Amino acid sequence: MPFAQPSSVVIAGSGIVGAAAAYFLARRGVRVDLFDADVPASQATGAADGAVSVASKRPGPMMEAALCGIALYRQLARDGLFADCFKSRSTFIVATSKAECDVLEAHSKALAGAGVRTATLAPQAARNRFPVLSPDALMIVEVHDEGHAIGYQIVHRFLTAAGVVVHRGHAVESLLLASDGSRVEGVATAKGDVRADAVVVAAGTGSARLLGIEHALIPRKGQLLITERARALNAAMPGAIMSGRYLLSKGSQNAPQAKLPKGLGLVIDPLQTGQFLIGGTREDHGDRRNNDIDAVSRILRDAVALVPGLADVRLLRSFAGVRTAVIDGLPLVGRLPHLINAYVATGFEGDGICLGPITGKAISQMVCGETPDMSLAAFDPARFGKSETVAWA
Ligand SMILES: Cc1cc2nc3c(=O)[nH]c(=O)nc-3n(C[C@H](O)[C@H](O)[C@H](O)COP(=O)(O)OP(=O)(O)OC[C@H]3O[C@@H](n4cnc5c(N)ncnc54)[C@H](O)[C@@H]3O)c2cc1C
Repeated sequence: MPFAQPSSVVIAGSGIVGAAAAYFLARRGVRVDLFDADVPASQATGAADGAVSVASKRPGPMMEAALCGIALYRQLARDGLFADCFKSRSTFIVATSKAECDVLEAHSKALAGAGVRTATLAPQAARNRFPVLSPDALMIVEVHDEGHAIGYQIVHRFLTAAGVVVHRGHAVESLLLASDGSRVEGVATAKGDVRADAVVVAAGTGSARLLGIEHALIPRKGQLLITERARALNAAMPGAIMSGRYLLSKGSQNAPQAKLPKGLGLVIDPLQTGQFLIGGTREDHGDRRNNDIDAVSRILRDAVALVPGLADVRLLRSFAGVRTAVIDGLPLVGRLPHLINAYVATGFEGDGICLGPITGKAISQMVCGETPDMSLAAFDPARFGKSETVAWA
């Protein structure tokens, strides 16, 4: 049986998931040692869009988890921790072809079935509600009660409130196993061993090597663009736009992921600053050093086709990040098979900004021997067992 509340926990990784876990554990009085191979939010969390959204989630556990995730953002915004860094807004899913309309129709039914507030806008209503949208839009579904947050701001809030100082540039190299192999006693790092009552691995793509699960995780690059401020156009957008093709790129209707060039699927997010964040690609590799002109020009062309006013807005910069995907499309959250006091929380692909805080809370509850607020059954690492392909620590 997992023990009750530990007095010390080591966390590997200070992205949004590790930072959230650190916050919720520190609030309980647990001593937290948070290690990062680089600096906080230096990987996916610092290179994400930031949709706190259920709109594109697949029906089932991901949709349910996203609803819990959004509810926690709202609560933490009300409590003040996320004051001014959670923007509440709708998402407008826009279909421009018959194939996209079919997917969107099925998807909006699935959302409504999960209790999400949605509305299908008739053409005139759409023009009134979203005047800057192209007349090419054939079908528009408004998903209410969504939001947006910048990942690195959320990490900063968590760490500051928790009073946790990250051990920067300090990678965790392996778990230290007890002699009987049933539990961990801490971690080995380049600067020496660190003892703890429990260990949480929230190291994004770095979790693969740390846990011997290289075959279960897929690095998935995404390219994003950010524009200059364009306040009038920004104010005329009552929410984010998500193209019907984005649903296909994420396989949101349980359909096999569509083979789109570079996995392109369009999202246009009007930021609080007056800028637009526009993305993106889904490419199955982990090289985030470059943006390529083909992807950037395709994203821009698609964006201008849906919001023609963007043609007059300058592009400020492009960047890329790497999502951590799991081969079966669901995150890995829970206790490591065969170890009673070691946990993993990774594999959130394009959903970890939304799911990071609620996952950090759920992991902290699990580590302390409580039943988590959010059901983690579908995300249990034990579903991979221990095999030749998945070695686990
Ligand atoms: C282009 C793009 C767009 C996205 N858009 C959205 C979106 O709109 N909405 C959404 O919800 N999500 C989105 N995501 C996904 C989201 O960013 C990730 O799911 C989330 O940030 C994952 O957080 P994490 O803490 O698990 O991992 P990461 O942020 O990758 O953090 C892992 C940390 O672990 C550290 N680390 C690695 N190895 C070790 C080690 N051995 N020891 C110690 N530290 C280690 C790393 O340096 C890093 O800081 C997007 C991602 C990308 C790339």
